[in-house]
Amino acid sequence: MKRTKPGSKPEAELGADDYRTIRSALVNRHTELKSLLDDADAMPAPTGEMLTEVHDRGDEATTNVISELRLNSKQRLIWEYRKTAEALQRLESGKEFGLCIDCGIPIEAARLRASPIATRCVRCQEKREIRQDERDATPSL
Ligand SMILES: [Zn+2]
Repeated sequence: MKRTKPGSKPEAELGADDYRTIRSALVNRHTELKSLLDDADAMPAPTGEMLTEVHDRGDEATTNVISELRLNSKQRLIWEYRKTAEALQRLESGKEFGLCIDCGIPIEAARLRASPIATRCVRCQEKREIRQDERDATPSL
């Protein structure tokens, strides 16, 4: 029989350890994004042929780096870089971090651990993605 220790934190809330973990994950990702953006500035945009060639040689590490630059595109990296900086600011201020920007309820702890830059709770994010899917369903060409 499993018993809950008295005084143990419920899974739904972020503890001090979580904040430390999330903070260091954000700082690491921020640094990583900075260097990815520097690399993106330094190298020409990879072409489809380059990707195929690298893949044929089985150079998975290089493929992953190029894929990340290509698939996530520079705009996406810049977006995530900003979101990471914003999340760090919220974390430092200690007030807004972890609250859904749409409905204001605390974002699920598991979600924040997995994605510290999340600004919406699961429910609001799903609603938003459904709306985006509807827009994306319209061909843009
Ligand atoms: Zn919400």
